[in-house]
Amino acid sequence: MAEPLSAEAAATLRALLAGSDPVRSALLAQIPHTRVVGRCGCGCVTVDLEVDRTAVAPAPAHPNPAVDAGYYAPHSAGVMVFAKGGYLSLLEIYSVSDEPITAWPDPCFIER
Ligand SMILES: [Zn+2]
Repeated sequence: MAEPLSAEAAATLRALLAGSDPVRSALLAQIPHTRVVGRCGCGCVTVDLEVDRTAVAPAPAHPNPAVDAGYYAPHSAGVMVFAKGGYLSLLEIYSVSDEPITAWPDPCFIER
């Protein structure tokens, strides 16, 4: 399975990776070359990612998650970006309630 990033997932990644940090900048540059290769089984919008490594350079070494953020109310959720070997590998959203998050909240609600 491989499919393009949804516009909502891409917008979320762009918002999370904004700024001048070299790791985030490198991961941001990978977004146009990133595909969705898997999904979470719980029904949430978490996506496994794969980057075309021939098209773009890896990020410098960094701890995981590369980004860990939350959302302002009314969204009870957090979101994390993971990378493996310098390439985007997972965009994970998690709920702080019992219900899975089934749609990406508007990135304007991201709290960093
Ligand atoms: Zn899930």
